[in-house]
Amino acid sequence: MFEIKDVDLAGRIGRLHTRHGSIETPAFFPVIDPLRQELPVTEIRSIGLDQVITNAYLLYRRTGGAPVKVHVFLGWDGVVMTDSGAYQILEYGDVDVTQDEILKYQKTIGSDIGVILDVPTGDVERNKALETVEETLRRAREALNLIDPRSDETIWVLPIQGGKYLDLVEKSAREALKLPYRMYGIGSPTVFLEEYKYDVVVEIIYRAKRILPGGRPVHLFGAGHPLIIPFAVALGVDTFDSASYIIYARDDRYMTEYGVYRLEQLEYFPCDCPVCRRYTPRDLAEMPKPERVRLLALHNLHVIQRTVKRVKQAIREGRLWELLEETARRHPSARSALAKFRKYYRYLEKATPTSKGEVRGLRAYGGESLWNPHILRFQEHILARYQPRLKGAKRAVLEPMPKDSKCLPPNDGEYKAYYDYFIGVIPWELCGVYPSIHVDHGGPTLEAIRHLENALIAFVHKLVKLGVEEIIIKGPGADLLRHRRPPNTKLE
Ligand code: ZN
Repeated sequence: MFEIKDVDLAGRIGRLHTRHGSIETPAFFPVIDPLRQELPVTEIRSIGLDQVITNAYLLYRRTGGAPVKVHVFLGWDGVVMTDSGAYQILEYGDVDVTQDEILKYQKTIGSDIGVILDVPTGDVERNKALETVEETLRRAREALNLIDPRSDETIWVLPIQGGKYLDLVEKSAREALKLPYRMYGIGSPTVFLEEYKYDVVVEIIYRAKRILPGGRPVHLFGAGHPLIIPFAVALGVDTFDSASYIIYARDDRYMTEYGVYRLEQLEYFPCDCPVCRRYTPRDLAEMPKPERVRLLALHNLHVIQRTVKRVKQAIREGRLWELLEETARRHPSARSALAKFRKYYRYLEKATPTSKGEVRGLRAYGGESLWNPHILRFQEHILARYQPRLKGAKRAVLEPMPKDSKCLPPNDGEYKAYYDYFIGVIPWELCGVYPSIHVDHGGPTLEAIRHLENALIAFVHKLVKLGVEEIIIKGPGADLLRHRRPPNTKLE
């Protein structure tokens, strides 16, 4: 049902097979309103989207529960996911259908991916949050009388609840493991997404993902902002949905990769999509509202789809961390998300492949680059597990990595290692091993200088322990160590 094709950090490119064809993940599901859809689905298709999500509860209400085929009703021949109405519970209080009715209905209308009638947590007090976790799990168990997640043609999603109460998120995920669902959702980050509390959102995802089995797809509800998508995918989210593209459009709001503008704030459109190539902000402002909403929605979807493609390409290249760093510089909330990622290092490092098929050089930009799992893992290995091949040498030379990365062998009777501000120490015999000669940076930052200083000292101690009597440090590394000179060193 779900195949993983490529991985970087905990993000993956995968293929999700449904009865109406397969889609490549990460994939964005635009929310289609079955009652009023201002942007025709043919235009959504034209952007290259193969999947949409609609609300089974609203469709049920609209048709009086008539057994329509959802693909026909929407005029969509791709993959259709249906939500159960859970969001309506969050927004308007209880819904007036039972879970049995809404599950049966999703089956009848031919949903490719369906959701149980969960109870989203939202931003509530702890007791209330616990109730939503328990009630969602109770319904997930009860649903098994009616559906079989192992063999139904519909893929059933079990949402993980708990909101900002991270122990409840973990409890919810652990209990979910005991049930036979093949796809999970991350319940209710919507309130935090709307408030740009991306640090809270990534923490919720991390806590759930750490427990859920890695081979199963995970959906993030309500995520449709270009700033959160790279972070969600990097933690292992495969699919996500949102109505933001149309909600923003109705409110004359224009998405960009670095934030949302009001139409009247724009003199120019910083975008090359068909809408922005053809019209100016003034043109749109002068149009009748329905036309303007349609065009803004189309542009917004383009931005989301472009973001998803960039994330996929970054996974292919092993540059997802670099993309996160870049995204973090676009908005303070994205920065707060990346700051959390230091804590996720072990989780990300475990998932990150040790080499990538077609690696172009890694790039370092600043302090956060030191936490790039590709880079940090190398130095961790050197300092913790690596045994220098001394071959009896009592003298060692540490020198800066040459600009052309051409490592020369050591002189007879000597041991040799190179060093780099971002990577740290690179033993001569590991020169050229990914990523040791591939880091491209425009000079050290303060954090990188401190990092190198610590790496050199730790490495010198390692050599001294192994019986090396003289360690000559050449180049800028020598200057770094002058004020805290380690034993047996000669600074040149
Ligand atoms: Zn555009």
